[in-house]
Amino acid sequence: MPAPILEIDNLTVSFDGFKALNNLTFAMQPGELRVIIGPNGAGKTTFLDIITGKVQPTSGTVRFKGKNLSKIPEHQISRLGIGRKFQTPRVYLNLTVRENLDLAANRRKNVLATLFGNLTGGDKYANADRHTVILLLETISLSSKADLPANLLSHGEKQRLEIGMLVAQSPDLLLVDEPVAGLTDEETERVGDLLISLAQSHSIIVIEHDMEFVRQIARQVTVLHQGSVLCEGTMDEIQDDPRVIEVYLGQAPTVTQEQMRMLRIAAAMAWADGNFAPEQMRVILNRLSQQFSDDPAHQSELREELKNYLGKEISLETLVPQLTTEGERETVLRLSYEIIRSNTINEAENVVYQKLLELLNLPPEIVQSIEAEIEAQYTEVAPVNLGKDAETSPPSETL
Ligand code: ADP
Ligand code: MG
Repeated sequence: MPAPILEIDNLTVSFDGFKALNNLTFAMQPGELRVIIGPNGAGKTTFLDIITGKVQPTSGTVRFKGKNLSKIPEHQISRLGIGRKFQTPRVYLNLTVRENLDLAANRRKNVLATLFGNLTGGDKYANADRHTVILLLETISLSSKADLPANLLSHGEKQRLEIGMLVAQSPDLLLVDEPVAGLTDEETERVGDLLISLAQSHSIIVIEHDMEFVRQIARQVTVLHQGSVLCEGTMDEIQDDPRVIEVYLGQAPTVTQEQMRMLRIAAAMAWADGNFAPEQMRVILNRLSQQFSDDPAHQSELREELKNYLGKEISLETLVPQLTTEGERETVLRLSYEIIRSNTINEAENVVYQKLLELLNLPPEIVQSIEAEIEAQYTEVAPVNLGKDAETSPPSETL
């Protein structure tokens, strides 16, 4: 294994006795794209502040490329190769996109030289610089807007420009604080693609709240809580971790990880056509709460709790292989068929359902009998009344 690019050991930061970071230990390898998540006040911003030297640790060490950063002033740390992007874009609004990048690429040039070109001529770096800027424009997908003043860019484009300006300074480690706050879904995805492509040649730490975005970009996620690392793992590993759910929702889950998985697969089915219909939500919450508990009062609590876990866009390819028993796979099939059957099955739902069948890999006779069982409910007492609250309509079948 190569030496870590960043190594934080037993680090504590106290503000008047309050420990914003508490015995934090962390390491990452060169070339990693690491996402750090955690509830408000977990210490995420302080974590970046100690890496950049903005805040000094009370105890413990930070090593960057093996070098202890304690007592190195902030401006020198940035020269060692650590670049930080703050939450709000800091671009020169009256300069063009190209000029902003050009300035960032060569900070020794001053603003006037950038604006009026190389009046002295013969700058042996000029061609190399121009080439760098052209590549950067391509990387951040702003080539077509290169000569527009930055104030004409959308918020998402400004974010990408600023990421480009950071890259122009060729840091080894990029620190990026909540890059998609306030962006549209489409812009969010583009920033995600940009970070993924930059990760091929840089080490990157991203602090983020938006879970869908984290899912898009993350390989390894570190969860901070009360100034320490609560856990680390892939998104699939951490999202069902009861400790993570507890710090995010302020309450430990009462359902097991297996139950959570069935719920998430059901949610993926309901999202199949991009429309999570209210009757699909009722099918999921009622059926699963009845399956997970016999007590009507508890079922009603469960419906509230389960709603919190109806995450979007987790792929079936990720979820289904996590099911361990044939019983769980049958339950998932029964529930999924009912979800799409609860309103007319459309083409998009059918495609996802076929994919689910393939992944579940159940014997065809079991699939047929489960489908027939649900079809029967819909033809005998059509439409099945699942009611607004389950107490009024306990279904005859249990899952
Ligand atoms: P996050 O970014 O995860 O929301 P922060 O790192 O901003 O968390 O803050 C962690 C905790 O440290 C919070 O409780 C915050 O109030 C406290 N804190 C941060 N900076 C200071 C400071 N300069 N003085 C006192 N308390 C601070
Ligand atoms: Mg913060």
